[in-house]
Amino acid sequence: MSRLSARTTTRSRWVLGALVVGLPLSLLPTTAGAQPTVAPSPQRDRGWHGQPTTLPKAPVMVGSGGAVSSVDRDASQVGIDVLARGGNAADAAVATAAALGVTEPYSAGIGGGGFLVYYDARSKKVSTIDGRETAPATFTDKTFTDPATGNALDFPTVVSSGLSVGVPGTPALWAKALRDHGTLSLNAALKPAERLAAQGFVVDQTFRDQTAQNADRFRKFPETQRVFLPGNQPPVVGSVFRNPDMAKAYRALRTRGTDVLYRGRLGEAIVRESNAPHTAPGVSVMGGQLTLRDLASYRALTKAPIHSQYKGFDVYGMPVPSSGGIAVAEILNLMTAYEQRTGVTTRDVDQVQYLHRFSEASATAFADRNRYVGDVPGVPVGELTSTGFAGERACLFDPAKAYSPRPIPPGVPDGSYTSCATAPVSAQPSEGQSTTHLTVADRWGNVASYTLTIEQTGGSGITVPGYGFLLNNELTDFNFAPTQGDAPDPNLPGPGKRPRSSMSPTILLQDGKPFLAVGSPGGATIITSVSQTILGYLDRGLPLVDAIAAPRLSSRNGSTEGAEPAILDGPTGAALTALGHKLASAGTPNEIGAVTAIRSLDGGLFEAAAETVRRGGGSAMVVHPR
Ligand code: GLU
Repeated sequence: MSRLSARTTTRSRWVLGALVVGLPLSLLPTTAGAQPTVAPSPQRDRGWHGQPTTLPKAPVMVGSGGAVSSVDRDASQVGIDVLARGGNAADAAVATAAALGVTEPYSAGIGGGGFLVYYDARSKKVSTIDGRETAPATFTDKTFTDPATGNALDFPTVVSSGLSVGVPGTPALWAKALRDHGTLSLNAALKPAERLAAQGFVVDQTFRDQTAQNADRFRKFPETQRVFLPGNQPPVVGSVFRNPDMAKAYRALRTRGTDVLYRGRLGEAIVRESNAPHTAPGVSVMGGQLTLRDLASYRALTKAPIHSQYKGFDVYGMPVPSSGGIAVAEILNLMTAYEQRTGVTTRDVDQVQYLHRFSEASATAFADRNRYVGDVPGVPVGELTSTGFAGERACLFDPAKAYSPRPIPPGVPDGSYTSCATAPVSAQPSEGQSTTHLTVADRWGNVASYTLTIEQTGGSGITVPGYGFLLNNELTDFNFAPTQGDAPDPNLPGPGKRPRSSMSPTILLQDGKPFLAVGSPGGATIITSVSQTILGYLDRGLPLVDAIAAPRLSSRNGSTEGAEPAILDGPTGAALTALGHKLASAGTPNEIGAVTAIRSLDGGLFEAAAETVRRGGGSAMVVHPR
């Protein structure tokens, strides 16, 4: 929706908001003498789609009226309700994200950040919003090193500390997404999440497991223990988990606006708690450096997307400070370059050769992003995403063996691509896995691909007292010490800087129209999960839900490559090992990513798709199932 029509329908926002939250019209705030009516809007006047239906949890659903795919049934249902009642993709994305903050509080929420890629049907343009957390103004490139030794601080120690907490960007992103693209007010969009937090949701195995894995860490922080370990134990599967404090936080945000966080009491509580976290007796953790000024200067930023082309599709992804868009583009370009080099398409090779190519492409892209991408000026985006650069980088590819020894050296994105130039190799940064992704499409053709996070599962472990949400540990996405040898490291901490991300919300257009929206959680594996899903669907001939379910490999240019059991423990793993790949378990849980996606079909239909098994299975929904 255009800015003008969004602004001129303030009253209708209230009405629509009330409908979304189930309030009778008589309770609506009205101007004196005016009758509450839904003002006509170009998007809403196309027809009322009736009462939303309660939909089952399913990994794939086809139908009309709009679609939502997330990891969680309650959250997807919230988005579907918004769409069914006339909201658009931006409205549903914010409402779904806020609901995920309740049901996936260890992955996302008010205390974190994220990135939105949005296709606006009216302008036919893709734009992005950067809601990444920022470092305090006092940060320097030495903040994460020991002043005495110059060595990097201990990573797990920093994770569970106030020093890892960046200024949350998620509330600002929500407000901006609604302002720029939505029809709902923040007040209306957050109401379903507030209700979910107050009324509770049914605990599933994933929630219990994530709580149990974090239990020791959570016990260090009495407020976190109180909120997330009721009775000092992880909640039982099947029980109802309520979070009245989080409901209070949502109520504050929706009734007072984001200023309550960036300039008000909620912000004061965040600054206080991150600077001097309350801890259990005998436990001490480092305090952070956030100030009220850091919060007040935070902005969610509109940015042009990363754009590349793959097999006739326009691929749009997230720009810096995420490396996601750049790395996905480079991987896809490399897969094309390998086809040209070998004369055999990705479609025509066997599974082992396909994964071999994919591994080499992703390791190469990680070498380049580690060297060149961060929240710094002068990132050579055009070069890194160019087919010329990929053509040069493909010179390292050998169909008969993995590049060895790892790591693959970075390339030289200098615009001249006639040699096989490489730069000196460098150490590899490490990253954890958590986060959540949601995908929304509406009946007007708008599409949202949105990844949000509090970084590690459980974030910093610090809960803001009285508000029931966890603070992020996003600043641990900075490299603690230089990783690039003599070359500058683009991802060292700095004042107000945003740590480099791997989040890769992606939208593909075909002939200018939405074709596929996809994304995933999983730290640095996000990049490989998103690329592998695109390749599985476009090149390997898999139905979308099977492309998501396919066993994953994640090669990030380390000494080993993560592989799920279906690859690692079978003949494919053995064949890859014979080619020189050093495969290792994907970790705990032994899975990579949790993709959600939506495909636009002819005739106003959508196919929403999600995981069949990973993270307990995702939840793909459409407004009117076929
Ligand atoms: N902090 C990670 C990133 O921005 C996302 C969190 C995760 O998935 O581990 O890439």
